[in-house]
Order: sequence, then structure tokens, then C-alpha cells
Amino acid sequence: MTAMDAGHAAALDAADPLASFRDRFVVHEPELVYLDGNSLGRLPRATAARLRTVVDEEWGGELIRGWDHWLDEPLRVGDRLAPLIGARPGEVAVSDSTTVNFYKVAWAALEARPGRRALVTDRDNFPTNRYVLEGLASQRGLEIRWLEGDPIEGPKAADLGPLVDEDVALVTFSLVNYRSAALADLASITATAHAAGALVVWDLSHAAGAVLVDLEGGEADLAVGCTYKYLNAGPGAPALLYVRRALQGELRNPIQGWFAQREQFSMGQGFDPVEGIGAWLAGTPGIVSLAGVDEGVALVAEAGMAGIRAKSVALTEYAVALHDAWLAPLGFSLGTPRDPARRGSHVAVRHPDARRLCALLIGRGVVPDFRAPDSIRLGLSPLTTSFTEVRTGLAALRELAAD
Ligand SMILES: *Cc1c(COP(=O)(O)O)cnc(C)c1O
Repeated sequence: MTAMDAGHAAALDAADPLASFRDRFVVHEPELVYLDGNSLGRLPRATAARLRTVVDEEWGGELIRGWDHWLDEPLRVGDRLAPLIGARPGEVAVSDSTTVNFYKVAWAALEARPGRRALVTDRDNFPTNRYVLEGLASQRGLEIRWLEGDPIEGPKAADLGPLVDEDVALVTFSLVNYRSAALADLASITATAHAAGALVVWDLSHAAGAVLVDLEGGEADLAVGCTYKYLNAGPGAPALLYVRRALQGELRNPIQGWFAQREQFSMGQGFDPVEGIGAWLAGTPGIVSLAGVDEGVALVAEAGMAGIRAKSVALTEYAVALHDAWLAPLGFSLGTPRDPARRGSHVAVRHPDARRLCALLIGRGVVPDFRAPDSIRLGLSPLTTSFTEVRTGLAALRELAAD
């Protein structure tokens, strides 16, 4: 038996200590090969049950009285999420979208470095991050210094030298690149930015629940990230926002909303924010969706990040091996770092005809996604993706491409 045989995938599944987690998710179509859990994670069964309770009993039954406990949810869920990203209690809030949270923390970093006229990010950063930064730069008259790094290998501390000096207020990257899955070195990039006196914002959207993140150990300042990707919290579920405790007294939230107000329900005059991470809330949080974050986070915590990362590496290694054996001879190239220590939990395969092939794959019940200009992105979600699914999906792609 070679590594390409179906028996090998079955053996990998049989030896997978996380295999049973797949049964904890709703699987309507057992034959569907779902390789998009990095964009929208599957629905945990516990979430389906929990949402019914929240809707029927809490909203339906408690009505407005539910706010007695709902008010605590953004920070309670944040504390539960914190250990998954190397944060401490009181450092994470869950509310608003990643885009809005990114605006808040990027603004706060710029505001905390008055007089500095530049910020640094990379051309391959996720669109919403680039657009928010362009808006902030134009509002504040700042220059964006674009890192034109290697689109597959992602940003490196060594590339920052020419870009980061005492005029830079903010350095910001995605920890895992949305297209190539390049995994940046949080600690070395943060240290390089700090040496010039800049603050750093990390976007953990494709990292949280997939790779080991150590915000505290890496001395990260600020971070944001989605919960509906590898944390399986549901479409549009509220996002995480991290502020290192030592900075909480110094940095300010630009959105002075009433959910950050001390004695919120005294409805007083003048904004007077609470201390701590609660100051980063804005308006009424989405309580139904927050329950989805709670359940998704609980499931990831139960499986454990060490096991999740180990399975993620095994899945991506397997996908890379199948790419090399089956797809490379058909004109594909790998759009993801080869070193597993340098990549997240998806694998991009590139082909000039990727858009058409991706549409054909979806028609055959294999769901990855297309990322312009030429990548098919295979999201391998450690709690739900099996090795057999990876093999079935790549076998279908080989067949379509050979046609
Ligand atoms: C998915 C993703 C987002 C999405 O932001 P939303 O506000 O939830 O739409 C933002 N940043 C990165 C890096 C992402 O991967």
C-alpha cells in the first residue's frame, strides 16, 4: 500500500485521536466533502441544542429579564476563549465583528503613538484589514508602508527592517494568511516592531482554534479574530478582541458606546468607561450568536489545542503529499508553505484554471473555495475533517483537472 491508497487514509482516520469529534457536529450529507471549515465551521450539535434553549427559554421566556445574565456574556465567553490563544482572564471580549474590532484596536494603537506618521502591513493581508487601514490612514493623514513580501511564505521579521523605524505607530499582520496559510512568527515580528517603539495588532481569524497562539508569551499588544472559522461559532458570530492587560489603562476605544459605560443603566451624562477589557465593548451584543461562540470554544477546549494542532499538521501534510503525487503533474503548484511549522490549517493549490475547477468540484459535492487569482483553498478543520475526506476531495480534483 502506498501513501496514496484509500487504505492509507482509512488507517490515518483509525489512528486519529480526535476522530470521534466529527460525531459532535451536525452532518446532514455524509457524502459531502466539506473543505471550507476555515471560512465557516460546521455546526456543533451542542450549539444546535443550546440555541434552541436560548431562543425558546431565554429570549422567549425570560424576555427583558434575561439581561440580568446576558450582560456578562461578552466577557464571560472571552475568559473562556482566552486560554485557546494564550491570553489571560480579563484580556478578551467577544462582541462586534472582526472588522469593527480591528478598527477599534488599530485606531487605539495609532492614537497611542501621536506624532508617528506611518503604519506597516502587507499587501497580502485580508481585504477588510487593508481597507480599514486605508481609511484610518486617510482620516489621520498617515502613510501606509506596504510590505511586499513573498505571497506564499508571508511576512517575516527580517523583512521589516527597512520599513519599521521611529516614525511607525502600528505594525499589523494576520497570524495565518487567508490565502496561502503562511503562519507568521508572532514573537519575532512583535519584538522587531517593539524595538522601534511601535504597537502591534495581530488578526487571529485563521489561527484561533487551528494553531498554537501565545499572545502572552509573544508579548502581543492587541489582537482580533473571527469565531465562525475554526471555532465553529456560526455565521456572523461575534469576534474576539484582545488587549494586553498592561495596556488596558493606556489605550482607548474610539467607539464610546454605552456597553462600556460605568453604571450603564443610570443613563448618565458624559462617557465614563469601566476599567479593563469591558471598555472595548460598544453596543448591545448579539446574545444568540454569543451562545454559539460559547459552545464552539467549549468543544475546542475539550479537544485541546495541542491535539488540534497535531491533527492539523497531519491533515495538511497529507494534502501536500497528495498534491505532489497527483496534482503537480497536471500543472498545479503548491500555494502554501512546505514547512508545516510555517503554515496554518488550510492548503492552497494553484492552477491557471482554478476558478472553473473549483466550481466543478462544488458540483461534485466537494466544497473548497476559490481565492483569486488562481488558488483553490482546502480548509482542513481538525475537529471535523477526516483524512478520507481529504483524499476523496483531491482525487475528484485530479480527475477534473485531467479531463
Ligand atoms: C475572515 C477574516 C475577516 C472577516 O472579518 P468580518 O468582520 O468577520 O467580516 C477579517 N480578517 C481576517 C484576517 C479574516 O480572515
